[in-house]
Amino acid sequence: MASSSTSSPRGPQSKEYSSAEREYDGEEVLCNCGDKCPMWTAWKNTEYIGRRFFGCPNYKIKTKKCQFILWVDGILSERATSLIYQLKTENDKLRHSSGSIENVSVEKLKFEMEEMKKEMSMMVETYERRNKKLFRWMVIAWIICVSLIIGSYV
Ligand SMILES: [Zn+2]
Repeated sequence: MASSSTSSPRGPQSKEYSSAEREYDGEEVLCNCGDKCPMWTAWKNTEYIGRRFFGCPNYKIKTKKCQFILWVDGILSERATSLIYQLKTENDKLRHSSGSIENVSVEKLKFEMEEMKKEMSMMVETYERRNKKLFRWMVIAWIICVSLIIGSYV
């Protein structure tokens, strides 16, 4: 298999496109749709793992049926392929475990936030109730003062 055939039916399938290097400023590659192809890296297929290729940007649109693939990197050695696959698997595992740790701490933080909100609203309620009581006593005191003053003039 030539490493740079313009349209390889044995190229990575759509689900294997997982990384794109859209900043590529080299030659412009157009697919059968006539669109500019981003450069991708094959990650999911063990046979092509780590190899870069230009692929149709419309690969997700099934009606387009454009299978355009242009390999950038040649076929890697078996050793390199298995090494990349191994590192990728380990990386995925690490990423997965750190993701679950993050989720746990986010959930915990959310719970703590809710508890704090409840506490705050309870404190506000208590404060308002106290304020109302204080206001009532102030009104009563004011009425007593006024009536005492008026009483002293009569
Ligand atoms: Zn296309």
